[in-house]
Amino acid sequence: MLNLQVHIDQHSGFCFGVVYAIEMAEEILDEQGYLYCLGDIVHNDEEVNRLTQKGLRIIDHNQLNNLQDEKVLIRAHGEPPSTYQLAIKNNLTLIDASCPVVLKLQNRIKNSFDKDETIYIYGKHGHAEVVGLLGQTNNKAVVFQDISELDLGSLPKNLTLYSQTTKSTDKFYEINDILKENGITVNTNDTICRQVSNRDKELREFADKFDKIIFVSGTKSSNGKVLYNVCKDKNPNTYFVSNPEQVNLDWFSANESVGICGATSTPMWLMEQVKERIEKF
Ligand code: SF4
Repeated sequence: MLNLQVHIDQHSGFCFGVVYAIEMAEEILDEQGYLYCLGDIVHNDEEVNRLTQKGLRIIDHNQLNNLQDEKVLIRAHGEPPSTYQLAIKNNLTLIDASCPVVLKLQNRIKNSFDKDETIYIYGKHGHAEVVGLLGQTNNKAVVFQDISELDLGSLPKNLTLYSQTTKSTDKFYEINDILKENGITVNTNDTICRQVSNRDKELREFADKFDKIIFVSGTKSSNGKVLYNVCKDKNPNTYFVSNPEQVNLDWFSANESVGICGATSTPMWLMEQVKERIEKF
């Protein structure tokens, strides 16, 4: 036995947006036995499997086109206006679990668009939240996930900058500075969710306290990637796993301290399973 001292970060686990969506889904699953959900309810395969077994039916936008007279859950990432229009056409009842933080951002972007501002969104191409944000601008806003995608010389002299809620705050302000240094007047809107940016600070402190860090997250989670890098930056002995089986005995030496943490989409029960496995080493 390696006698490892294992602790779970009590600030890790679902953010309130994800908790809200899952509670809504489970309530209807208990009543109705099944529920359609547009896209993965959370970017975590283990949690999706748990809910699928309870009757959650994940569908994509093509399948939504062919669905009539059913209830469909909109997950925390939100949806563009076209989804709401389709729901009316197909007589679908939307159970709208869009996160209030995302809805507020959608509104802000819509207001900017209505005022004819030139909108740039720092976000991941094709990410569901970003698709919902773009929809507020009739797909006219420019999305970029790296400053290198922009030709600084030919950018407009005035632009309005927004961010997807789960991006890194440091990177966002780096981009903001580069734009300004290049003579661009930026109307800066830091719309990064505080559930993510606060966790950034807390995780830095947490990662510093242990010999080894096990970061638990689905591979599709955007904030999972950001927060994993935060831990890795503070503690190079940080390992990324998506489930307990991926934890490798070779990573540890006798009597080490191990911290377990995760993304806003990582369920606490999964981090507990990871802890149980490590404690058996
Ligand atoms: S990370 Fe923030 S914006 Fe995204 S679902 Fe959670 S609470 Fe909402």
